[in-house]
Amino acid sequence: MRNPSILIIGAGIGGLATAIALGRKGLRADLIERDPEWTVYGVGIIQQSNVVRAMHELGILQDYLDAGVGFDFVDIFAPSGQQLARVPSPKLVPGHPANVGIGRRALQKVLATRAREAGATVRLGIEATALEDDGKGVTVRFSDGSSGHYDVVIGADGLYSTTRRMLFPEAPVPEFTGQGVWRYNFPREPGLDALQAYEGPIGMGLVPLGKDLMYLYVTSPEPGNPRYEREGLAAAMRSRLAAAPSRIAALAAGITDDAGVVYKPLEWLFLEGPWHKGNVALLGDAVHATTPHLGQGAGMAIEDGIVLAEELARHATAPEAFAAWQARRIERCRYIVDASRAICESQLGRRGPVDQSAAVRGMFEMIARPL
Ligand SMILES: Cc1cc2nc3c(=O)[nH]c(=O)nc-3n(C[C@H](O)[C@H](O)[C@H](O)COP(=O)(O)OP(=O)(O)OC[C@H]3O[C@@H](n4cnc5c(N)ncnc54)[C@H](O)[C@@H]3O)c2cc1C
Repeated sequence: MRNPSILIIGAGIGGLATAIALGRKGLRADLIERDPEWTVYGVGIIQQSNVVRAMHELGILQDYLDAGVGFDFVDIFAPSGQQLARVPSPKLVPGHPANVGIGRRALQKVLATRAREAGATVRLGIEATALEDDGKGVTVRFSDGSSGHYDVVIGADGLYSTTRRMLFPEAPVPEFTGQGVWRYNFPREPGLDALQAYEGPIGMGLVPLGKDLMYLYVTSPEPGNPRYEREGLAAAMRSRLAAAPSRIAALAAGITDDAGVVYKPLEWLFLEGPWHKGNVALLGDAVHATTPHLGQGAGMAIEDGIVLAEELARHATAPEAFAAWQARRIERCRYIVDASRAICESQLGRRGPVDQSAAVRGMFEMIARPL
């Protein structure tokens, strides 16, 4: 498309990466973000070989690496604490680390800075309240009473996407898995040079996040999807780690600050059928939200943005570009959602054991493929 006007709804990981990718193709986007404060909740994120490659393609690899910490392996442990495997990660950008751990705020800062440099505008505290597609473009009504007309609209508004609801009111809603994840930051252990994951019904692990920072996570069954008050969160997280091997138990004793605990129920969604209608497309968690067991949700959203920008630059119309884009993305996104859920379900005892080393190897094989 030549110089289309583009609106991105949601300035999260996927929306910002898409704006940067469009900028690389000479296309400019307007973003709207519902959250007036543009807050990012604490703790960090695991990003693997494909995201390092994606950041290279977006032209922001050095800023990104400077904001996080690289590592080249995933270590798998038995529930007893015995190490079972050291899985090497493919290095998709020669001379750079395979994987990165990065704080969510640091990631957002890099993406937001570079999206603005790519010409994107970001309006905070604004939602789209109606989309009217006349076949040639979309009239968008905004929550501040204003409106605009765009050739292309991209819904990157996450798991509870209102764009998805407007486009496909019959689409399924996110499903709670039965599991939640608890996370807590610690000074990085000397010698921690890998993401370390413990198998078993209570999954747990350590993630390097910076030169001096790591986080401990634990996934636990949470029947009925309870909501927790802040007070008591540290004790609740410690209780989930009661049977942890000695190394993790020693760390768990240091979980004392309720405000430092980040708890999230784990939900998923995969939209069967088209991820687009007319001149509007949905990407990232809005159409394929995974559990974090393989650390790939954000990676899929970022890749979506890169491929979508390529297809929009290549095709004459948005519907053609969207169809080509989804065809390139669906197999990989479905694989990540299914393989991640398989680990979750096995931890919950709803299916047989999953060999986590094999799952990690399979994931690396899939995500190393060209986009
Ligand atoms: C506990 C947990 C741990 C995770 N760990 C990892 C990990 O280690 N590695 C990894 O790759 N992925 C991980 N993920 C997944 C990852 O966070 C998501 O896949 C990723 O954030 C999806 O990006 P997105 O842009 O689609 O959505 P989001 O990042 O959620 O962004 C959506 C944005 O849209 C905004 N918005 C929402 N509604 C509207 C609206 N109506 N109008 C305007 N704006 C709106 C939101 O405020 C937000 O800024 C994890 C997820 C969870 C829950």
